[in-house]
Amino acid sequence: MQLGYGFPTRFYTEQGFRITSPFGPRPDPFNPGQTDFHTGIDYGGRPRGTPVLSTVGGDVFAARTYSGWGNLVGVTDAKGYNHLFAHLQDMLVKPGDKVARGDRIGSIGSTGQATGPHLHYQINKPGTGVRSNGYFGDPDKYYFEEEVENVDVAIVLGGEVDYFNAAPLRDRLNCPVFSRTALGQLAKVSNIYVCGGPVEPIKAAAPKAKIIDLSGSDRFETAAKISAYLKSL
Ligand SMILES: [Zn+2]
Repeated sequence: MQLGYGFPTRFYTEQGFRITSPFGPRPDPFNPGQTDFHTGIDYGGRPRGTPVLSTVGGDVFAARTYSGWGNLVGVTDAKGYNHLFAHLQDMLVKPGDKVARGDRIGSIGSTGQATGPHLHYQINKPGTGVRSNGYFGDPDKYYFEEEVENVDVAIVLGGEVDYFNAAPLRDRLNCPVFSRTALGQLAKVSNIYVCGGPVEPIKAAAPKAKIIDLSGSDRFETAAKISAYLKSL
């Protein structure tokens, strides 16, 4: 399986974890014969007590025990999304703490409703707190604005409205997507697809990069250019 840059699965597999249960429908482990919808990704394959590192920088908004989640740490990122790390054996941060990507927040455990030691990782939409049904979607489809070392290819949007237009290109190129607030991180990227908005600020931020300009005069024209480019690949 090819993994995207900065996405949580790559982050955790590089630390020796493996997916023990993917995002999406699955047989309900607690109710045989029934189907459950798994709202996050389970990472296992490492023993109880293994450090759990945060995938993202942000503010800790939750660090306590819940009946289902067990010991859960929640981190709100700069875009307001809540990153949940559940079933921890212990928690090393408290609400109000700031963490950076890669900081240790706890240890692998099996607290709460868990069949064995693993990390349940889930990303919740802004305002949904720790609610299990507040999930954004597959965590590997979330785009992180951090962790861009060794990135060859990136997409830059004009604005939020371009996100869905650019999604098929992102899936095809398997690359991170950046908003205009993150241009400072593009300096080392060699190929940049501009999907919306002016090209000049991108050239200024990444003078050595090859720029592929797929921006139209509005989001509909941008969508058409992206679509035509995909067909040409
Ligand atoms: Zn899970």
